[in-house]
Amino acid sequence: MDLIFFGMQGAGKGTLGKSVCEKYGLQLFETGGELRRLAASDTELGHKIKSIIEAGHLVSNEVVMEIVENFLNNHQSNSPILFDGIPRQLEQAKTLNALLEKHHRIYKAVIIDINRATALKRLTTRRIDPVTKKVYPADYPHSISEDGNELITRSDDNPEAIETRLKLYEEETLPVLNLYADKLLHIDGEPPIEEVKQNAFKVLDPLYT
Ligand code: AMP
Repeated sequence: MDLIFFGMQGAGKGTLGKSVCEKYGLQLFETGGELRRLAASDTELGHKIKSIIEAGHLVSNEVVMEIVENFLNNHQSNSPILFDGIPRQLEQAKTLNALLEKHHRIYKAVIIDINRATALKRLTTRRIDPVTKKVYPADYPHSISEDGNELITRSDDNPEAIETRLKLYEEETLPVLNLYADKLLHIDGEPPIEEVKQNAFKVLDPLYT
């Protein structure tokens, strides 16, 4: 059973997604991570994607859907897939659903619920390990990660880009949830992450036992 993860930026999609993949043996497709890898390449496309991400805008559907399609075409193992960060708007949802049908995938959608104030607080205070990409919330007391790297602020976690990203989520991504209403599972993303994980496992256990 594949999972499509939804949640406002800062909901903990990335952190929870990794734990869910480890626990149930899913393979992670992290759209933002794939795009950041492309953005790091010294090509015209790489530079273009980098500036779009840093402004908090959405990368074109053409680029995003090509990455997903390639991923699905090359996915040869039997493991289910966790889609993080896609679909982010209606057109992507329609294309993704058609691709999933073509590849005979069965799936549920999962939404991690948080309110805007929590999202804003988390995004403006979090730091990341630039090497492992692990996220460190405000209450992590050191400037060095557990893996010994200097923590940094993500380049799109600046006030303007945060506002743009949250607005895009509310206007473009939230309406997409209507398409998944009959397969949508809710997880409360407000508590500290360890508690969110335990809640998520309770919701997801029945799918994988
Ligand atoms: P994320 O790591 O999921 O917060 O994504 C970081 C950035 O990558 C977003 O703000 C967008 O600029 C871009 N991005 C990620 N997923 C998508 C998508 N499905 N469609 C378009 N752009 C995306």
